[in-house]
Amino acid sequence: MGRVVGRRDWADGLFSLSVAAELEPYRPGQFVNLGLELDGELVRRAYSLASPHGAVVDVLVTVVPGGRLSPALARLSVGDELFVEPVAQGFFTLDYVPPAAELWLLATGTGLAPFLAMLRSGEPFRRFERVVLVHGVRERAHLAYADELAALGRSHAGRLRRVACVTRQAVAEGVAGATDSDGLAWLGGRVPAALADGRLERAAGAALEPARVHVLMCGNPAMVDAATTVLEARGLRRHRQRASGHFAAERFW
Ligand SMILES: Cc1cc2nc3c(=O)[nH]c(=O)nc-3n(C[C@H](O)[C@H](O)[C@H](O)COP(=O)(O)OP(=O)(O)OC[C@H]3O[C@@H](n4cnc5c(N)ncnc54)[C@H](O)[C@@H]3O)c2cc1C
Repeated sequence: MGRVVGRRDWADGLFSLSVAAELEPYRPGQFVNLGLELDGELVRRAYSLASPHGAVVDVLVTVVPGGRLSPALARLSVGDELFVEPVAQGFFTLDYVPPAAELWLLATGTGLAPFLAMLRSGEPFRRFERVVLVHGVRERAHLAYADELAALGRSHAGRLRRVACVTRQAVAEGVAGATDSDGLAWLGGRVPAALADGRLERAAGAALEPARVHVLMCGNPAMVDAATTVLEARGLRRHRQRASGHFAAERFW
């Protein structure tokens, strides 16, 4: 079991829970099953851990309208209990990433969570010369943890490049193409489109060269599929256990 010890609401239907729970040692990028008893049944779903092992367990959750568990998680407040499976699972970790000069992290929505755990652990900065973090969201309010990521960027002087792809607002607000004082580069539209037309590379100030990069993608399966098509057209291959490649993905549904 776990107990909610903190809660942050980023936008309507998007929140983080800090949970006091005993988890066996895990790697950043792994997920746990969280659950609640609903109508006499334990309903469990997978949630990526946004914090590395040893820190308070942090998860970033979006409410799926009509879903069973996520609307119930959204009703939790500090002090409430929930089921937390003590053993984290999954292979979406840096252990499976081959040596590369640059790590590119492409997230949509709550797909940011595993990357946050990796970045908070400091490991990407020990292994890669540069990290590019791309967060695709509908509205700028959905850019969860932006302040913490800006601070991480400052403490790793130039080695963390952050790009926001905002589908609904950026162009209207005139921020597309700009970089703000926190070092966040703003693009309008979806991540795969920005990859395909070169805007993402220009905003990141880096090129997707197969010999230099490894790309991790997480979140919306439509983003993963569309970005995979773009990456393959650019000569990058899916990473497999028996054949080293350039990208891997975790789909949330
Ligand atoms: C490895 C893994 C890690 C995950 N990590 C997270 C996480 O960190 N944060 C998080 O919020 N969710 C995460 N999910 C999704 C989560 O497990 C649930 O599927 C989600 O919360 C919906 O559960 P529900 O019971 O509310 O909806 P359900 O009653 O299960 O059904 C709702 C439907 O919505 C689909 N769906 C699931 N997620 C979304 C979404 N974000 N947007 C649109 N449709 C969706 C489901 O496939 C299902 O068809 C992860 C899933 C996987 C497989």
